[in-house]
Amino acid sequence: MKNKASESYDVVIVGSGPGGASVAKELVEKKQRVLMLERGDNDPINGSFFQMAMNAGIPTQSLLFTNLSFLAMVRGLCTGGSSIFYCATAFDPPFEMLDAYGIDLRQEVRELKQEIPIAPAEDRLMGVGARLIMKSALELGYDWNKLNKFIYQDKCQRDCGKCSYGCPTGAKWTARNYVEQATDKGMTLINGAKVNRILYEGGKAVGVRYSKNLATHDVFGKKIVVAAGGVGSPEILRRSGLDRAGYDFFFDPLIMVFGTVDGLGSNGEIQMSAGAHMKKGGYLMVDLNFPTPIYLAQSMPKLRLHKAFSQPNTLMIMIKIKDGLGGRITSSGGVRKSLRAEDRAKLQDGFGHAKKILANAGAKGIFSGWTVAAHPGGTVKIKEMLDSNLKTTKENLYVCDCSVIPEAWGLPPTLTLLALGKRLGKHLAEQK
Ligand SMILES: Cc1cc2nc3c(=O)[nH]c(=O)nc-3n(C[C@H](O)[C@H](O)[C@H](O)COP(=O)(O)OP(=O)(O)OC[C@H]3O[C@@H](n4cnc5c(N)ncnc54)[C@H](O)[C@@H]3O)c2cc1C
Repeated sequence: MKNKASESYDVVIVGSGPGGASVAKELVEKKQRVLMLERGDNDPINGSFFQMAMNAGIPTQSLLFTNLSFLAMVRGLCTGGSSIFYCATAFDPPFEMLDAYGIDLRQEVRELKQEIPIAPAEDRLMGVGARLIMKSALELGYDWNKLNKFIYQDKCQRDCGKCSYGCPTGAKWTARNYVEQATDKGMTLINGAKVNRILYEGGKAVGVRYSKNLATHDVFGKKIVVAAGGVGSPEILRRSGLDRAGYDFFFDPLIMVFGTVDGLGSNGEIQMSAGAHMKKGGYLMVDLNFPTPIYLAQSMPKLRLHKAFSQPNTLMIMIKIKDGLGGRITSSGGVRKSLRAEDRAKLQDGFGHAKKILANAGAKGIFSGWTVAAHPGGTVKIKEMLDSNLKTTKENLYVCDCSVIPEAWGLPPTLTLLALGKRLGKHLAEQK
């Protein structure tokens, strides 16, 4: 392969999740020369447990445990980042909150809604469990609505049940779709390239140093965008002299609540087809569904043997809370954070409501699983470390991913990150 290290680009982007992919796509459309460095692989998504485990289940790499509790945090390390394994739910950004930081994403969100599939799932795609939960929640007076999904619904096979493994039919829109569009238009993508630090000249960012196959390479660009995710970006920035990165973050902890309905016969359903945003309580409640191995791992703490075989008759509601800011990312990319009493109270409150909904749906033996987390962010906050164009205090150095979110969150972040990426792409393309 040609050695790319000697070349220079308009923009070097580190990471190919929603933040990085969106900047990349916008830039190539504006004829910029873009290099994207991605630490994970670019293997075709085959929808297997093995592939998911390799890209999102390796302890200390993609499965990160907090120090004191056994709270696990998952992230995807491959082209497309965590979006390969996400539940594909699209939530509008909190526009007013971002307005206060000088960031208006309304136009970008309008454009995204024209470019990518964002709509509630058609009735025919909603699983039997999700429908039963919705009926029960509405009967009890909850504001339970269908959620927007990033899904090409004509390609989606109801009951295939592989959303968590990475969608093998291409129905689930992921950041990889944007990466592929960008490479088709000339972007260079290097996989297996782990960026270690930013290179400076005269105090200005001029490139990055990465390792691949045990060799170290330097590569140069007029602008550098770090988009390595809520954990990856602060790790790189800290090694590059921005010591304040990686503190006081959120990770939106969640629990799954399970209950058994005899004869339900669920066969694997699309995830998060409907739910309620309990704004006052500070959490989301949604239907969920997992392939059997993840169901078993999730339900392990309370597992009675017979439950292992009752997944087709199991209803699941996920409670995802807006946790308070706290904790730190270690210099080697570890996660250190404990849940506060307020956070536990939110989970408990959500559990109570989920229990009511499941019981009303006829479920028995209701219990909750492990507490886990999947949305690390707020580690390189706008205003604190970035200006409203996502630029750091270093000239030519930008950040665009879940790290930049300035406040506690509690929402599916992907649409916001795509909009931030689009906005940054436009801004960079206008620069000389
Ligand atoms: C199971 C699960 C379900 C989810 N469901 C939803 C949902 O329904 N809706 C929603 O909106 N969000 C969901 N999310 C969250 C969403 O996927 C993430 O918030 C989003 O992907 C974050 O995007 P990002 O650009 O910040 O980073 P990431 O997606 O984390 O991408 C960062 C990329 O950078 C790469 N990288 C890291 N370090 C380096 C390095 N040193 N050098 C080079 N590359 C590096 C990584 O390999 C990765 O590809 C879910 C997440 C998970 C795990």
